[in-house]
Amino acid sequence: MALLNLNIMYAIIFAVIIAIVISLIMVLKSPFQYPYYNCYLDVTGKRKPQIDNLIDQLLNSGEFNEFQAHNKKILLWKEKCNKQIENSKLKKYRRSQFDKCIDDDNAFKFYLTRQQTRYKQRNYVKKAYKVTQTVNVFFCNYEYLQNRDRALQSINHECTLSEYHSKNQRKLMTKDLRKKIMYRDHYTCQNCGKYMPDEVGLHIDHIVPVSKGGKTISSNLQVLCSKCNGSKSNRVLKDRSQ
Ligand SMILES: [Zn+2]
Repeated sequence: MALLNLNIMYAIIFAVIIAIVISLIMVLKSPFQYPYYNCYLDVTGKRKPQIDNLIDQLLNSGEFNEFQAHNKKILLWKEKCNKQIENSKLKKYRRSQFDKCIDDDNAFKFYLTRQQTRYKQRNYVKKAYKVTQTVNVFFCNYEYLQNRDRALQSINHECTLSEYHSKNQRKLMTKDLRKKIMYRDHYTCQNCGKYMPDEVGLHIDHIVPVSKGGKTISSNLQVLCSKCNGSKSNRVLKDRSQ
């Protein structure tokens, strides 16, 4: 009988010790978790995806509002943590935990992912399935996004920064951009008003010529007919020879 009681007593002591250890771990564990912004960009089929270009494209489509909202969320979170620290009995300890978890320079995380098709074979039947693989990760702070958005704003969000500074502006003239300009200008010469719905003799003209620093962006492009385009290039050539 006495032996049994002793066993029960040991069990109770053991349980109490375990409970104390668990609650100590719970109390000492950091209650702070930095609110990162995670963005997944699917780059399947893109050959050398440039992260800064992808970010510019996001900014050009107005994503900055979301980054701004998230930055506000981080500031609110910090405020909340500070209040929590002030009210804590382990002020110094909590403060160092909080400081350790702050990671403003990497607050915004961009994951480049690729969809890959894989196969598994079972009973002589091949089955395809898709996996998403992260091929690259990019971290930055809010200021980086803010500065980039400001720079893009100064060029009316018309292209990415690397496109804007590209030495080869002619290469940036894509089929899609041509179509966009033709549609915008109603297939009509912006000089003489000739309508060219069949696109015969239709030229996409750089209003400020590339040779004079003109960019391949919508606001610097217009539809011209061959006649007007020809006389314009003659004029530009004349300007250059003078
Ligand atoms: Zn014309």
